[in-house]
Amino acid sequence: MTGLLGVYVVSAGRVGLGRVEYQTTLNTPVICAGVGVHSGERARMVIKPAAVNTGIRFRRTDLESECDILARGDHVTEVQLGTTLTNDEGASIATVEHFLAACAGMGLDNLLVEIDGPETPIMDGSSAVFCELFHNAGLQIQTALRRRIRILDTVEVRDGIKWARLSPSADNVLTLSAKIEFETKAIGTQQMSMRLMPGLFARDIAFARTFGFARDVETLKAMGLARGGSLENAVVIDGDEVVNPEGLRSDDEFIRHKLLDAVGDLMLAGAPIAGLYEARQPGHAMNNKLVRALLDQPDSWCWETDAEAIETAASMEAASA
Ligand SMILES: [Zn+2]
Repeated sequence: MTGLLGVYVVSAGRVGLGRVEYQTTLNTPVICAGVGVHSGERARMVIKPAAVNTGIRFRRTDLESECDILARGDHVTEVQLGTTLTNDEGASIATVEHFLAACAGMGLDNLLVEIDGPETPIMDGSSAVFCELFHNAGLQIQTALRRRIRILDTVEVRDGIKWARLSPSADNVLTLSAKIEFETKAIGTQQMSMRLMPGLFARDIAFARTFGFARDVETLKAMGLARGGSLENAVVIDGDEVVNPEGLRSDDEFIRHKLLDAVGDLMLAGAPIAGLYEARQPGHAMNNKLVRALLDQPDSWCWETDAEAIETAASMEAASA
């Protein structure tokens, strides 16, 4: 189920089918628990339905002060290997990107996430478990219209050979297109494009696991990272080989995971994006830079709801009739 309701729009004497998107939340709370990939600490998340215009909010129940951490790009404080959010009071939550990707990928707008630790559970390193939990709980369509960010002008960020950009498209959803190149034959060159539709995300992207290199494992652990990392929650590459005995879930699992990460990172713009995302060798740092550039350039986008879009289309048709 999605937040799409069909409505008939009468304009200039013709009846056309327009679709109005409403905000969504979950029907019932869902629970999951597991270790954080970097902290190695176990945490339990209670994911609860929330009122319209709440957004996705994390609440650290292990801290004394009860202050929420809103999932938004300007609260991102760490992008080294995952995305960490920190609020003005200093409360933070790490590795939110796979959870947020599932929220954006399934079309969820409003949730309150109570968590009793500093990092979301990594589960199997993908968004599959979160999508399954959301699917089982069911989505509830709410009374307020969903707002979209409509890209009006291209916004681009670069770092050496890496780049990412958002540009306008006539579509009401986000289309993602990315390319990665790695020396290892296990990855090589991979490229993929997709329209961010709820059913497509759950089917084609959600299963793709995070990946890392065996040569980095000791360094990461010395830095206090990847303490919870294992072959249970990441694809590990050694030379030209995939170490995991079960192998890959698809030959291009790596680029699929890059799209998954981008969906989670772009969700931090504050609303679903209507536009085209393109990237070469993207990562969390690049994606967050892009979101911040977008928010810093208010002339390059506008807020839009379907009611406004339908009204504009109707008045354009009436004017041309
Ligand atoms: Zn990831």
